[in-house]
Amino acid sequence: MFEKILIANRGEIACRVIETARALGVKTVAVYSDADANAKHVAMADEAVHIGGAAPAESYLRGDVIVKAALETGAQGIHPGYGFLSENPDFVDTVEAAGLTFIGPSAKAIRAMGLKDAAKALMHEAGVPVVPGYHGDNQDAAYLKAQADEIGYPVLIKAVAGGGGKGMRLVEEAAAFGDALSSAQNEATTAFGNPDVLIEKYIQQPRHIEVQVFGDGAQAVHLFERDCSLQRRHQKVIEEAPAPDMPLDVREAMGQAAVRAAEAIGYKGAGTVEFIVDGSNGLRTDGFWFMEMNTRLQVEHPVTELITGVDLVEWQLRVAAGEPIPVAQEDLSINGHSFEARLYAEDVPKGFLPATGTLSHLAFPDGCRADSGVRGGDTISPFYDPMIAKVIVHGPSRAAALSKMRHALEGCEVAGTVTNLAFLGALCAHEGFSKGDVDTGLIARDIEALTAAERPSAVTVAQAALAVSGVLKCPADALGFSLWEPLSHSVYLRRDDQQITAKIKCHSSNDVVVEVEGNDVRFLRSQTGWRVAGRALSNAVVKDGVVTVFEDYGVAFDVIDALDRSSNDGAASNVIEAPMPGLVKAVFVEAGQNVAEGDRLAILEAMKMEHSLLAARDGTIAEVMAEAGAQVEAGAALIQLEEE
Ligand code: ADP
Ligand code: ADP
Ligand code: MG
Repeated sequence: MFEKILIANRGEIACRVIETARALGVKTVAVYSDADANAKHVAMADEAVHIGGAAPAESYLRGDVIVKAALETGAQGIHPGYGFLSENPDFVDTVEAAGLTFIGPSAKAIRAMGLKDAAKALMHEAGVPVVPGYHGDNQDAAYLKAQADEIGYPVLIKAVAGGGGKGMRLVEEAAAFGDALSSAQNEATTAFGNPDVLIEKYIQQPRHIEVQVFGDGAQAVHLFERDCSLQRRHQKVIEEAPAPDMPLDVREAMGQAAVRAAEAIGYKGAGTVEFIVDGSNGLRTDGFWFMEMNTRLQVEHPVTELITGVDLVEWQLRVAAGEPIPVAQEDLSINGHSFEARLYAEDVPKGFLPATGTLSHLAFPDGCRADSGVRGGDTISPFYDPMIAKVIVHGPSRAAALSKMRHALEGCEVAGTVTNLAFLGALCAHEGFSKGDVDTGLIARDIEALTAAERPSAVTVAQAALAVSGVLKCPADALGFSLWEPLSHSVYLRRDDQQITAKIKCHSSNDVVVEVEGNDVRFLRSQTGWRVAGRALSNAVVKDGVVTVFEDYGVAFDVIDALDRSSNDGAASNVIEAPMPGLVKAVFVEAGQNVAEGDRLAILEAMKMEHSLLAARDGTIAEVMAEAGAQVEAGAALIQLEEE
């Protein structure tokens, strides 16, 4: 076994690897960017090396600097985590050239699976079913169109170098093919520097089912499947293992196909073979097709760990250190059911806009495994993925595990940023999902119901107001109420640009009433503490001018200083501001130009996504204050319209 390894990553996956390494007695070296100097993974590791600026290209993507850090600290191996350099074969070459061990597959295996077209050809040869379509070299537009016509619509255009759902276009009919092709090629060129595409039959009512494999360079085993059909824009949201309603013969067939895929490229370490599956009529042995292989540990690997009892990172370290795969295929089995939900800092009502913020409070309930790279007090910065945690549960059956997930999500306490908790909670209550009726279109079909924002109840507002006032913290005899008239004062809150006034009336030191928009909410002190609506109060925190009540997945209000209530906002409609910190990718207008409401004025890139900034009204551009390439803060004025 290694004595010391370096983890070339950050966030939850770096913490995850460090945990197992520590359990095995392996010392760890963290690397960190300027933005991560105080990050959790740095605190957890035995040593840490600063590798550069906050932008990934200046730190976590600098293979040479990372290898140098490993050599200088005496690490023998490098674990790449996922993302960043994990699927970069040139990095593997650099690591090995320095005499270090790459904890993962060979550069050759990564290259073989790096491009989707070559991978499909290779898999076809190895006898693995691939999605019907065209994945040849001819990239002539007319030729590709003819191929699509022959495959039959709908078809999917995919960038061969694609990942993360980029460069992918669904084409419903022949007439739409040309435009879809050029936009896929443009996106592919921007994102991957490679315009090449392949054309696939679009599988109807598809399910995404992937198989975890593990190889030793010659032979491989599989650790069953995960169903990742709950996706939004081709990104996984909730994953589970095993797949619901998976017949034994299909599991067997998919497992064997995945093992064939891994063995065909001499795969070493943990990998995932992703299949698209026709779910329109039950799962069948002739109804699954290879999509791609991810030659790394996958984000959702914990659900496999919980049903198999295997620590996949431990296996990675053992096999990379030259030990055999710890367990034979016939000794692997499935125990119960597991779900993982990806908890993000994102503004769901604003179209899942990635968010930032300092987590003034972060707590996870008992009864779940929370893999997280942040702690209370840490900041979700604009430089990286805004994931807060992966919430993972295990139960004896699917229904039991799902019920545990609902409770776990209800019990997560996050303050200081918006989150997708309510969306995840709504998904877990979705009737079709509860029945195991999943396909990759589920979220899009029901997106409105899943993201419907409910107004906070009077009980929630009242709790927020009391948390702000601190009244309930007073000992029973210290409220100073008056005999003739209840002691009263008002708390002013704001949510979604609406001001809410809560009037607190202390009738006695055990009886407080809060009036919210005409409703009286009564709080009574009992032996066990304060109660409202027949139950104990929810936790709440007040920090940095925001009060967050931990019910309904966390409801936050701005606290308005009573003295400052007349301060005026919302008057800035002449100014287009950056909605969050990010990089100005493009500016499309100049001073003097006339624009119409809805015109795209600029593009802001933040956290792996592009956001169009649109004109809120017709008008003339007075001034452009930002130029392409500039890094801007949230709220920065970018473009100014002339006064009406
Ligand atoms: P997976 O396929 O492992 O489930 P996703 O499809 O969600 O992962 O992620 C798409 C890509 O983004 C993958 O290459 C993954 O490694 C990368 N990625 C996801 N989350 C992060 C993160 N927090 N930091 C860096 N890269 C990430
Ligand atoms: P990426 O590299 O971006 O992860 P994938 O090829 O893995 O790209 O596809 C991402 C997602 O797109 C899949 O999980 C699935 O939901 C959908 N998808 C991909 N191929 C097909 C197909 N042929 N038919 C239907 N849906 C597909
Ligand atoms: Mg994929």
